[in-house]
Amino acid sequence: MNPVGFVYTEDYNRYNFGEGHPLTPLRIEVTYELMKSYHLLDHSNIKIINPSPATEKQILRIHTQAYLDKLKELNQLARPSYKSYPEFGLGPGDNPIFPGMYDAALAVCGASISGAKYLLEDEHSRAFNITGGLHHAMPGMASGFCILNDVAVAIQYLLDNNPLGTKIMYLDVDCHHGDGVQWIFYENPHVLTLSFHQDGHTIFPGSGHINENGKGKGKGYALNVPFLPGTFDRLYLEAFERIVPAVMDAYRPDFLVMQCGVDTHFMDPLTNAGLSTEGQEKIFKIVNNLASDYAGDKFLVLGGGGYNIGVVARTWSMILANLLGVQIEEPLPSEWLDYLEKKWDDSSIPLPTYLRDRNFYIEEKQLKDPFWTDSLEAHLDMIVQKFEDDYIPAIKNNIAK
Ligand SMILES: [Zn+2]
Repeated sequence: MNPVGFVYTEDYNRYNFGEGHPLTPLRIEVTYELMKSYHLLDHSNIKIINPSPATEKQILRIHTQAYLDKLKELNQLARPSYKSYPEFGLGPGDNPIFPGMYDAALAVCGASISGAKYLLEDEHSRAFNITGGLHHAMPGMASGFCILNDVAVAIQYLLDNNPLGTKIMYLDVDCHHGDGVQWIFYENPHVLTLSFHQDGHTIFPGSGHINENGKGKGKGYALNVPFLPGTFDRLYLEAFERIVPAVMDAYRPDFLVMQCGVDTHFMDPLTNAGLSTEGQEKIFKIVNNLASDYAGDKFLVLGGGGYNIGVVARTWSMILANLLGVQIEEPLPSEWLDYLEKKWDDSSIPLPTYLRDRNFYIEEKQLKDPFWTDSLEAHLDMIVQKFEDDYIPAIKNNIAK
């Protein structure tokens, strides 16, 4: 088995929307430091991959020329601009304009492509790009902090470098629907997208409903599990275990690409889900095992959302440890906690104390309102039923040739 590829470059720091934006480069920095403190980055089974930026040709497989031209123009600015270009999704708010933004987005796409390239080298190759997973960007516009869609660009790279029959499964566990990737491959049976996310009636981007199921030749290959706000570890994991192995067994992908957003955490400032870091680790462990059983160990792992930097660092460190086949344990390294305290700039979120935490708020809420859990569970049961009755048999009967 090849060593685990870990894609890393200092260029990540250039992806910076400016002061106060939730997608701060600090997320990556504190994660890298925690991985270092747990001695994961000098593990004997790791290979550090230094990526080069994506080429314009690779980006144009997904994005439009008009959008790239605008990005190239803004790239040259001497200072941040407060102008707005709604037709390109750029401007004050989610996707502010900053000098070098095109270069920064190319660096992220290049990193995901480097991970994809590594998968092509050997039968058993896993790679992790913690800055990837920018799943909201559309062909002609930025969306939800995502300038370019590195996920779609990397998936397209795999398709372009493989025989026609190749099947790629994309699994997205970010709290927000993986809309960009879904719509880009909506009519393509060679890319199956499966997204677990907070119900679009209650959160950005508003899509990802159960009836979004692909179109034309891609009919049946877009799948969504929209859960209700407050959904916590036990309920999530029960649905996940009933759906994901069955979908993989039906589709039998050649490659598995996973977006590991961690904004499903109960302390995330932008969402309303109820998972703990322990639950997030369990989700990853399930998929990591399935990658061996069903996808020949060709497994590209990408980061994603997550706006509590303590959660991002802890869960992604556990993910890297799992990829390396080791288990990291309590207590959190004291030198990392000291470092984190100096960097912590948000007094509304407490500093982490445990690597694997527990959602006490949910336990309290359950005691106060026992019927609340039932309603969350009934909603998920309805979705699982739909998968078992319709969606999974349809994939089995209609497998992409
Ligand atoms: Zn998200």
